[in-house]
Parts: sequence; C-alpha cells; structure tokens
Amino acid sequence: MRTALICFLLASAVAVAPGSAVTSSASVPTGKADKVKNVIVMIADGWGYSHVNAASYYESGEAGVQVYEDFPTAMAMSTYMFGGKYEPVQAWSDFNYVKSGVTDSAAAATAMSTGTKTYNGAIGVGINKNRLKNVIERAEERGKATGVVTTVPFSHATPAGFVVHNVNRSNYQAIAREMVLESAVDVIMGSGNPWYNNDGQLRATPNTYQYVGGKATWDALVEGTVGNDANGDAVNDPWHLVQTRSEFQGLIHGPTPGRVIGVPQVFTTTQQERSGNRFAAPYVVPLNTGTPSLEEMTRAAINILDNDPDGLFLMVEGGAVDWASHANQSGRVIEEQIDFNHAVEAVVDWVKHNSNWGETLLIVTGDHETGYLLGPNSNPMWQPLENNGAGNLPGMTWYSTSHTNSLIPFFAKGSYARFFKAYTSGYDPVRGNYIDNTEIGKVVFKSMDDPADYDADDAGEGAEDDDHSKDAEDNAKRNSKDKRNR
Ligand SMILES: [Zn+2]
Repeated sequence: MRTALICFLLASAVAVAPGSAVTSSASVPTGKADKVKNVIVMIADGWGYSHVNAASYYESGEAGVQVYEDFPTAMAMSTYMFGGKYEPVQAWSDFNYVKSGVTDSAAAATAMSTGTKTYNGAIGVGINKNRLKNVIERAEERGKATGVVTTVPFSHATPAGFVVHNVNRSNYQAIAREMVLESAVDVIMGSGNPWYNNDGQLRATPNTYQYVGGKATWDALVEGTVGNDANGDAVNDPWHLVQTRSEFQGLIHGPTPGRVIGVPQVFTTTQQERSGNRFAAPYVVPLNTGTPSLEEMTRAAINILDNDPDGLFLMVEGGAVDWASHANQSGRVIEEQIDFNHAVEAVVDWVKHNSNWGETLLIVTGDHETGYLLGPNSNPMWQPLENNGAGNLPGMTWYSTSHTNSLIPFFAKGSYARFFKAYTSGYDPVRGNYIDNTEIGKVVFKSMDDPADYDADDAGEGAEDDDHSKDAEDNAKRNSKDKRNR
C-alpha cells in the first residue's frame, strides 16, 4: 500500500508543485571566491505549495509560472521549532501528522535570522533566553545598509526576529522601541499606524501606539527628532518618517534620505484586514488605495539601501498571507500572494538592472504553512487544488485555521545559492530534497564571512540536535493553547 500511496503522491506532486522537487545546476560562479555584496530574503508568511499555485491559477490558469519557480535552487524546507521534527513518511501516511509540532513566526524568523532553533514566541533569543546574533547584525559589522519591510506591523514577529532580541513576541512596544531606538537598521517599513483604521481612514482618536513603540516614540518620529547612531560615526542618524502612498512612491527613484521609517496610513495590514466581504473572490472588494503595495515598499527600500558601496541586506515579508490563511479567506490569500509575487519580480528586476547574480543572493521562501490548504476532498488523501482557469477562484479547501508542520517551498538564486544543496537535511517522497530553516541563517552568515573561511565540506556540520521529544510536547501544548498565535 505504501508503494501505491507514494506513487499517487508523486503523481499528484507534479500537479501540486511542478519543479518543487527538482534541483538543477546553479548558474553562479564556482569556487570559494564569491563573496556576497547584497542579500535579500523574502518571506511569504504562512505560504505553502498550494498558496503559490492558487495565485498562479488565478492569475494565469497555470502552475509553475512564478519567477522564483525558475530559480536554480528550488527545494523544500522544514520549519519546526526547537525540539520538533519532521518525519516525511508519517507526514504522507497520517493526514493529521502536520497539524502538531508547529512553529510560530517568531521561532521561525529566529531560526532563519540566526541559524538556531528556539521556542515559539522567541524573538532573536535561544531556548535559555540568551541573545543570538542575527544576520542583520553581521551585515552591519560588514558595513552594509540594512532594512526590513512588511505588510503587517513592523514590530510583528518576522521583521522583529531579524532585528532585535526579546523573550516574547507580544511585547510589541518594547520590540518597536528597540528597532527604532537601538538597532542600526536603515530602513523599517510596515503597518501599525495608530491614527488610521484598516480601511486607511483617519481616526478621530488614535488606536494603540504599541506597534510603533508607544506615543512618545511615535510623536518623536513625526517630529523627526529621533534616531540613534546607525553607522558608527558617533553622530545620531534621525529617522525620516513617511506615511502616504505618494511618499513611498517618491522614494522609488532618485536621491533619498539615509534612514527611513515608513508606516503606511493603515492600522494592522496594508490590505487584508480591510472591511467588506472578507470571503469574496480576489479584488471584488476594492483595495485600499492610500497604502503602498509590497512591491512599492520593496522598491523604495532597495533604492534607499543601494547607495551603500558595501552592499545591503533586506528582509521583505508578505505578512498577511498568513493572516488570510488563518481566517481561511481564499480570495484574500490570493491577493496577498500576488502582492508578494510582484515584490519578488521587482527585486529580480533590480538585480538585473542594478546589480548581478554574482554579487547578490536572493532567497524566496516562507516561515511555515498556514491553513493546511489543499484541493477539495483531500482528507485522508492529499488532492491538488482544482484549476478553474485565469480569473476564477481555484478549488481550494482549508483543513486548519492554524500553522502546519508541512514542508514549504524554498527558492534561491545568485551568489552562494548553490550551497543550500550541500545542506540538504532529508528527502521527502512528495517534495524531494529539503533543507531546514536554520540553514538560511547558516548560509547567509557564511556568505558574509571572509570567503577563505568557507569550506563546502563544512556544509552539514552543526546540525541541530533536535531529538528533544519532551520539548516537542511542551511546544505542542503551548501551540494548541494559542491557536491565534501568528
Ligand atoms: Zn500565523
């Protein structure tokens, strides 16, 4: 039976995820001499193979059409938190297997930004609450310009996990203050504007200031009087605050301030939490027009950061793919995934015209799957989405309102991208070879170290000791208590 099952799964995998299990030789320079100037990590929070295909079917009626699906490194990635594990055979023989042992976005961001597994809720700290160095801090040591961009509040788990250190992701005010007042990043963009609602309308009285670091921090940002020393010259570098969509658009070309914080005129998400029928097909409810797209924010961020001759590090998050998936909003998931896809296209365009793949590493992935999105009638067998052609909602069924431990897509292109294959941590009968999310941190750290230090034979060293079943149980309990934990 198992053989038959696997055969079925492999057959359906072709429909579910063309190219996902295929790796081909990297078109990057060989040898130890390559050194990364620019690193861009793009994370669709909550995505899985079905999320990508849902957007592709809606847009074009075909799967496999996204720009990143042609990247030379295309693998799967495991996402579990400290003490967890992913067992490929169980994942494809027990339909409910992937519903337990799930990471949250904080532990996942920390794994990717530091190369170390941690507990759910941890922002840049390890299981003993110890501070872990992240790739942005390393980039700063290398003199690079750095930034984070998201569609959800900038102090939310994913951007926070790349910048600061806090024992609990829910400490938004402290996290936002550390990002704004203590970190050395040069660009922060994300929602959380206390003066606007989720439709982008000005409020009579402000909502909570927690996502932007409290009222005093916000007022100082508005005045333009706040900012620590970001470049080590002992002179404070004040933040330049932008809020309107046209201000974001104005940063896409030409000279820019050196340090920019962009908080669009919206409360929690640029689009996904707007009012109207939240279960309508994509774009039936008109988009907010006063907020920038993720593509616009990304292009603005790169234009600010790419003035630095030492290069840049940028993390871009499509944060509300996850939020729409928790709510099982099929139409809005597609909107958010398309918004993310356009941001990736903008980055690829920038590399082609303003950089090159020999000096730039681009990683496109997620942090965990959300919603257990599959085709109709999938339980207990896994069915692909039903393609209903361009402009039509595909046949999509949600089997969870939480995160899952499913493998997710991972793509990389450019300098050092080929090294991910050396870190392969397992083989999945449906998805093929997969890495673990900690490998992102490990490879990015390596890429920014002296190239002479790097030895491909080291790849696979330092594999995490993940066999702590008690911790896994504890984490599973913690997770089941907080289903809304994003
Ligand atoms: Zn989530």
